[in-house]
Amino acid sequence: MRDFASKKRIVIKIGSSSITHKETGGADLVRLEKLVRELTDLHNGGKDVVLVSSGAISVGLKAAHIRGIYYDGTGKSEGPDEKLKLKQAAAAIGQARLMMMYQKLFSEYNQMTAQVLMTKHTIVDNVNRFNARNTFEELLTLGAIPVVNENDTIATYEIEFGDNDTLSAIVAALIDADLLILLSDIDGLYTDDPHADPEAKLIREIEKLDERIEGFAKGSTGSLMGTGGMATKIAAARIASASGCDMVIANANDLANIHRIAAGDEIGTYIHSDKSRDFFIEDFINEG
Ligand code: GLU
Repeated sequence: MRDFASKKRIVIKIGSSSITHKETGGADLVRLEKLVRELTDLHNGGKDVVLVSSGAISVGLKAAHIRGIYYDGTGKSEGPDEKLKLKQAAAAIGQARLMMMYQKLFSEYNQMTAQVLMTKHTIVDNVNRFNARNTFEELLTLGAIPVVNENDTIATYEIEFGDNDTLSAIVAALIDADLLILLSDIDGLYTDDPHADPEAKLIREIEKLDERIEGFAKGSTGSLMGTGGMATKIAAARIASASGCDMVIANANDLANIHRIAAGDEIGTYIHSDKSRDFFIEDFINEG
């Protein structure tokens, strides 16, 4: 058992693939409902809970019937700018829909929720960062479960975090969270890509993020790379760990993993925090 009883402030990150149907990109209501129940239960148990949820673009593309155009890349007149516009419009449509679903599901348990959309500027700019931290603090004091996403509608390449793994670690650092639970489509961090290498082993515990561990992420290929891949999870771990926040990477296939992890069950990969004395959150944001 892990000693997580004292973890008071918990950030949970869920990716698009875990809350949408892969056939259509539409919201998976059954899973969303389970997720909301898990989060509300954590909150009822006295924890401060923050959710970092993706899914805006996926839900928006489905809602506006533009999924195929964006994804297959064959839209004849679509240059990169056209695609960006489409993606950002989809995010605007989808974020509102997603939030409506979260509102509805949380309200079934009389649980207050709130929406916080961020870009890199929120962190790099001192006034914005200060405001964001205060707002989170106030929301948690009021008893809300904030739902956070990147502000994809206005974030362009220069000011985007790019993936919500990084964003969730930034949020955890910003609000001094005790634990970050990163839910993914894989059981945790492996020594190699388990899809390609049958010898790959799940790493249960990481005391220190050294070169060996970084190497595992670099060695992983295919579905483990890119947005939401293992490399981004290690990057997130670097931020969380240096800020003094423990982190668990676990599989989102069973959402009951959330309360099991909070209770200290040995699920997924546990990365110990290794607080850096001169941690400045801004240092982890690459200036665009
Ligand atoms: N912010 C994006 C969305 O809500 C997802 C980014 C990611 O998957 O990491 O659709």
